[in-house]
Amino acid sequence: MQFGLSEEQAMIVETTRAFVEKELYPYEAEVERTGHLDIELVREIQKKAIAAGLYAANIPEEFGGGGLDTPTWLLYEKELGKANYALHWTAVARPSNILCAGTPEQRSRYLDPCVRGETWDCLAMTEPGAGSDLRGMKATAKQDGSDWVLNGTKHFISHADIAGFAICFMATGEEDTPRGKKKLITAFFVDKGTPGFAVRDGYSNVSHRGYTNAILEFDNCRIPAENVLGEVHKGFEVANTWLGATRLQVGATCLGRAERAFAHSVEWAATREQFGQPIGKFQGVSFKLADMATEMKAAELMILEAGWKFDQGTASDADMAMAKLKATEMLAMVADEAIQIHGGMGLMSELPLERIWRDARIERIWEGTSEIQRHIISRSLLRSFGA
Ligand SMILES: Cc1cc2nc3c(=O)[nH]c(=O)nc-3n(C[C@H](O)[C@H](O)[C@H](O)COP(=O)(O)OP(=O)(O)OC[C@H]3O[C@@H](n4cnc5c(N)ncnc54)[C@H](O)[C@@H]3O)c2cc1C
Repeated sequence: MQFGLSEEQAMIVETTRAFVEKELYPYEAEVERTGHLDIELVREIQKKAIAAGLYAANIPEEFGGGGLDTPTWLLYEKELGKANYALHWTAVARPSNILCAGTPEQRSRYLDPCVRGETWDCLAMTEPGAGSDLRGMKATAKQDGSDWVLNGTKHFISHADIAGFAICFMATGEEDTPRGKKKLITAFFVDKGTPGFAVRDGYSNVSHRGYTNAILEFDNCRIPAENVLGEVHKGFEVANTWLGATRLQVGATCLGRAERAFAHSVEWAATREQFGQPIGKFQGVSFKLADMATEMKAAELMILEAGWKFDQGTASDADMAMAKLKATEMLAMVADEAIQIHGGMGLMSELPLERIWRDARIERIWEGTSEIQRHIISRSLLRSFGA
């Protein structure tokens, strides 16, 4: 067992941290104020991220990415996660690992431009009537000759406004199982501009200003057979194999934001005086810090352990679910207590705390809600008893 960082990991953490502080923090206030991310600014930061070797760091080296192993990637995510989400996700993009599952032609058409920073991807599963229960999706793809014809609606689709294409999961049939009929799902690449494919503005969102979600509409959208990603009817298998660690990515960015809120809290507790002494002298404040530090440490160990197991091929669904659950719930607690320690100042946008508090809310919902993570964990405990 080894808990320390290697020299290389320490260097990546240091480089990413310095980049985030120098290139992302200065633009946060503007993005937060306007709720808008200027594409010229994105392009400027993107060039620097590529030059620093920080772009697409999750993608294997053989495909042009940084090739980080999972724990190192999560340490890098933790640093990026400290900054405004729209800025780090767009300007220091980590293309979806599912793009690596494509054929060589699909990789050169979709993965390579994302790695070079020429475009972005987005992933469309959720529908107005199918959220946690994704298999209940109604959007369909039907074969017509060698083409597929797509119909239906997806919503809450992150980054679809700037993405050059979407990876869309559609119902392509049904099979009989002992528990009744089960929908079969297939993943497809759909290029922006394909007739019958429209991207509409989504809803405005309390978390992550400057970032958008969109509604995708498919109206007899015809795409060729070569746009199938993976095997027909095996869309969820492709997703499970290649998107496995995205729950840890969410958790790792939460660790970073919690650390930022915590650093402000310690400094405030040590310097803000009331009743003639620093408020950190009052147990009502200092014990909050102790609990925050303990929760942060537990969450970080769980995220890194799950990442390590992921690379060993031994991570269970419950390991991933526990790590995501712990990190996202830890951030909610730390963000809330950070505001409490700061009193009224905690709610003012002069400090990043109200933003971290708002941004924390989404993390317990996307990539599987906290209830769904608990469901996965509890099933792993009870299944073998037939309960
Ligand atoms: C801002 C934002 C961006 C997103 N980006 C994307 C994206 O890019 N691509 C994409 O495909 N999706 C995306 N999503 C969708 C996201 O993954 C879903 O919102 C999430 O999975 C929950 O689905 P839902 O919102 O429909 O809630 P529902 O599934 O309707 O859940 C409502 C409530 O019921 C609970 N619940 C549901 N089922 C159970 C159960 N079995 N046991 C216990 N409780 C249960 C949930 O935990 C929740 O509390 C995004 C969502 C948001 C809000």
